[in-house]
Amino acid sequence: MTEQAERIKNLPPYLFARIDEKIAAARAKGTDVISLGIGDPDLPTPKNIVDKMAAEVYNPAHHQYPSYAGMLSFRQAVAEWHRRRGGVELDPQTEVLTLIGSKEGIAHISLCYINPGDIALVPDPGYPVYEIGCMLAGGQAYKMPLRAENEFLPVFEDIPADVVKRAKLLFLNYPNNPTSATADEAFYRKAIDFARENDIIICHDGAYSEIGFDGYKPLGFLEVPGAKEAGIEFNSLSKAYNMTGWRIAWAAGRRDVIGALGTVKSNLDSGAFQAVQAAGIEALLGPQDIIPQMCDVYQERRDIIIDTLNSMGWRMKKTKAAVYVWAPVPKGFTSESFAEFVLEKAGVVVTPGNGYGAAGEGYVRMTLTIGTQRLREALRRMRDTLGSVTF
Ligand SMILES: *Cc1c(COP(=O)(O)O)cnc(C)c1O
Repeated sequence: MTEQAERIKNLPPYLFARIDEKIAAARAKGTDVISLGIGDPDLPTPKNIVDKMAAEVYNPAHHQYPSYAGMLSFRQAVAEWHRRRGGVELDPQTEVLTLIGSKEGIAHISLCYINPGDIALVPDPGYPVYEIGCMLAGGQAYKMPLRAENEFLPVFEDIPADVVKRAKLLFLNYPNNPTSATADEAFYRKAIDFARENDIIICHDGAYSEIGFDGYKPLGFLEVPGAKEAGIEFNSLSKAYNMTGWRIAWAAGRRDVIGALGTVKSNLDSGAFQAVQAAGIEALLGPQDIIPQMCDVYQERRDIIIDTLNSMGWRMKKTKAAVYVWAPVPKGFTSESFAEFVLEKAGVVVTPGNGYGAAGEGYVRMTLTIGTQRLREALRRMRDTLGSVTF
């Protein structure tokens, strides 16, 4: 067999492989497996957006190559959305770039700044693409542990000086996947100061910016003074408008960084289907009542999970945002052994936290993206098999 390139061979091992095998085995045995492992909205894309897409598909102008930076009208819609949301001023021509999903932009930003030997600072636990994008560019990721005692925020003072010196990018993600932690203005100001002092570009991932509970509205990174000079934000229609399959997102913020990302993209892809961008404009500027409705659905599910687990001996605070419950595992379990136990005894899939990084050991992730009835059934089974637990 032809040998693969080092950059592929050096990718971190896929830590969910073992649990994936066990899920397949349980299903093969006929177990009615309920998965709380999938981070993909189960609610449909709102009808006004689907209708817009259906109409736009017929426009022959959309059947040709789009512009690599995205339609100006989409980028203007993004700028208007940021203005309405938090008073952020963006130049749609130079400070906004259309992406084919934010995963694409997150993976490509490392190609813009990371030389072999350079470092990207990434959260641990975290969305794997930050580290992998950096590795594919030939760089190294330095894992910043997110710990409960620090509200799952990284502590910049703990990063060794020689690492800081080699760091070019700082990835942040709030509301956070997998912990559902949120960040306030004081934290973002600290991050901006740290980045400025050390000439590091902040890449904030705002995928869950619209999902907040109990009246809480997550602060947008670009809404913080100085953010636009310190870096960029990736945001996406995937989670806010239930559009994961459509592949439409954007990056916005610091002009030279947006320009660099545009240069890489113009050489690698040819932009997002314009009909999808037109549907994206409808999502961003059309009726927004879908967002509070969606948050209400997730909030009810959050309550089902956390109230049930707390009745069994957990002592978790209610999460304020995002679609995850990041639960510590009971005494005597590791992330993996707990996930295996719950799968084997209750037929319920929870994701072992160490799959998101070594600092995720001792936790499992459960998602709110499953119908309420199935969720109740999953929690009932967990209570029946586990009873009460200690930590
Ligand atoms: C879901 C998710 C995204 C969004 O990815 P898209 O490519 O825009 O669908 C980005 N970051 C995190 C942390 C996510 O969980």
